[in-house]
Amino acid sequence: MKVLVLNSGSSSLKFQLFEMPQGKVLVKGLAERIGEETGRFKANDYEVIEKIPTHKEALELLTAYLLNPAHHIIKDKSEIKIVGHRVVHGGNTFVQPTIIDAAVKSKIKDLFSLAPLHNPANLTGIETAEEIFPQATQIAVFDTAFHQTIPQINHQYAIPEKFYKAGIRKYGFHGISHQYVSREANKRLGKTNTKVITLHLGNGASATAVLNGKSYDTSMGFGPMNGLIMGTRSGDIDQSIIFYLVQKMGYSLEEVQNILNKKSGMTALAGSNDLRDVETAAGKGDQKAQLALEMYAGAIKKYIGNYTAQMDGLDALVFTAGIGENSETVRALATKNLTYLGLEIDSEKNNAPHVFKGDITGKQSKVKVWVIPTNEELEIAQQAFALIK
Ligand code: ADP
Repeated sequence: MKVLVLNSGSSSLKFQLFEMPQGKVLVKGLAERIGEETGRFKANDYEVIEKIPTHKEALELLTAYLLNPAHHIIKDKSEIKIVGHRVVHGGNTFVQPTIIDAAVKSKIKDLFSLAPLHNPANLTGIETAEEIFPQATQIAVFDTAFHQTIPQINHQYAIPEKFYKAGIRKYGFHGISHQYVSREANKRLGKTNTKVITLHLGNGASATAVLNGKSYDTSMGFGPMNGLIMGTRSGDIDQSIIFYLVQKMGYSLEEVQNILNKKSGMTALAGSNDLRDVETAAGKGDQKAQLALEMYAGAIKKYIGNYTAQMDGLDALVFTAGIGENSETVRALATKNLTYLGLEIDSEKNNAPHVFKGDITGKQSKVKVWVIPTNEELEIAQQAFALIK
């Protein structure tokens, strides 16, 4: 069965077409700079640079590619039985992959205020896909759903209860990725009663404590700004800084939001949100870049300690996403001096994890340390396929 997975952003649309249940990728690509003067559409080896006014034209480019007899992918659009959509915020409503109908769309709309940058774009993707693939079952897979198992002790904030009742709680993000890599970790551990910490380190970053296969705590909260230091986001800060910036330094709330979201993190500490630049600068002796790397890894280590304490132990630590999968420096710094907890990595394996199937565990280590590439699209395809089957 052919399952198309869509990840719609405000000006981009990433897609993958899978043959399920094998999970074979038939087409992979993206449309970007949608709505701008020149857009780019790429599917497998095919690329075109032209104006892509809306998501609709992006999906039309995709269907033209899929139907092109030279590509041998599909003969008719009806062969695509399922379109799986990544939806960032499911609030308290959505804890499972969900078949999309009018009521579901209206609830996704109700959640716009909780994810103003993401849910509107996700809904656009859904509505466009309904138009272009009317015969397919549209299924939403939510980035917050995996974290709905986080117990109240970890998801409620210590603020007046009326706010909790109004939906102000920890939701967590990157759930699809944490779920995918933690399940892979449990497969490797060969059991499900496990204590795992997953570190999704991309442009955004979050750590999750996964106890017995379920999210038990995560570092992002009500929104995606707190927790770990990120490319442009501050991670955990003292709330009083916000009041000081507004009340004493004259910044508007919008400015503060912009500073904490777009001008903080590695951008603020080292002048770039791309970790490769920071590593290069640190390698040349740039002290700010060196400190930035130490701080970045230090924030991760605080969560490793926190979550190990909460779970009373640790079976495996998993690194994933752009930085987790590629930065031996961050992996080495974040796991340095954790011998008290019986965790150490093998530096030779850390420098070439792909050679060792991602297993960078040190010889004496009691805790497994793995680099597991995330695959959010495959996870969405699997969840959507399982729902229909
Ligand atoms: P997103 O959160 O947008 O999905 P990714 O998971 O692709 O992001 O991660 C992107 C980040 O990964 C980049 O900003 C870059 O800092 C980092 N990255 C990618 N490749 C490398 C590498 N070889 N070494 C260090 N960092 C890398």
